[in-house]
Amino acid sequence: MEKKNIDWGSLGFAYMPTDKRYVSNYKDGKWDDGALIDDPVVHINESAGVLQYAQTVFEGLKAYTTEDGHIVAFRPDMNAERLEASALRLQIPPFPKDRFMEAVKEVVAANEAYVPPYGSGASLYLRPFIFGSDPVLGVAPAKEYQFRILCTPVGPYFKGGAKPITIRVCDFDRAAPHGTGHIKAGLNYAMSLYAITDAHNQGYDENMYLDSATRTKVEETGGANFLFVTKDNKVVTPKSDTILPSITRRSLVYVAKEYLGLEVEEREVLFEEVKDFAECGLCGTAAVISPVGKIVDHGKEICMPSGMSEMGPVLKKLYETLTGIQQGKIKAPEGWIQVIK
Ligand SMILES: *Cc1c(COP(=O)(O)O)cnc(C)c1O
Repeated sequence: MEKKNIDWGSLGFAYMPTDKRYVSNYKDGKWDDGALIDDPVVHINESAGVLQYAQTVFEGLKAYTTEDGHIVAFRPDMNAERLEASALRLQIPPFPKDRFMEAVKEVVAANEAYVPPYGSGASLYLRPFIFGSDPVLGVAPAKEYQFRILCTPVGPYFKGGAKPITIRVCDFDRAAPHGTGHIKAGLNYAMSLYAITDAHNQGYDENMYLDSATRTKVEETGGANFLFVTKDNKVVTPKSDTILPSITRRSLVYVAKEYLGLEVEEREVLFEEVKDFAECGLCGTAAVISPVGKIVDHGKEICMPSGMSEMGPVLKKLYETLTGIQQGKIKAPEGWIQVIK
């Protein structure tokens, strides 16, 4: 297979159209057979449910080349299950899990020329999503939907090593109790755009959201879960009904316990405790772990003991173990690596 002439190492995290995308349409109460298509443009009515009432949910996962030359996806079954949960919450008909898995395989295989080679640090990012496609005007769920997976090659998240970032405690809320914070929906991002733009304007990389009911507990950032490490090497991660259940976080918790023999606490984390942790990181598919060096709470700075020059030792070990598993260098737990080719 002839790869595309792309400078893999200099890719960022941006959309680039590839040759094929997978599309299946829902009409008259059922999903059609689905197909790979060429057209990157979606044609929908001006009053489509997604345009008027934001009826859409999405996923994000990666396919990449392993050391032994296979193309694999990391835990796509988890994305299928989470997409189903997200869809149900927004009255969207779920896309069947077995078909999701098949669609991932098909679309990656069809875009093999865009799967970055091993060692480049780059990967093929997959964005599955479902949206209401037929006209609505009165507030109601759409009757027709489209499921689509687009692929785009993305670069190594950190070029030249992961530098710790500075975040701020945010005065805006991300999710309400009993709201939609636990599902992967575009609507959660739309309302975070003002807050993240403001954070960037003030010189911060990300927002730390607290629970909106009491504003005392750590939730997550706009698009990544928190991991903390205590001074005696325990891994602590916030547990809350209003955070998005990150697949990276759940995988890292498993790796911490089963591969590194670390103690892990998944529990409510008070903001007050943060100053006592040794390390802090953000986890998600894009970067796996981004180290946090400094947290600013309305002018009061919390400087993590791990510092501003590199990732702390425990998070680094976690990062290396999980990325080693993903690249096929460390034996993966049963079912984590889906071989596509
Ligand atoms: C996608 C997402 C994450 C990270 O989840 P992963 O499955 O690890 O990629 C965390 N928080 C939010 C709000 C997200 O949308």
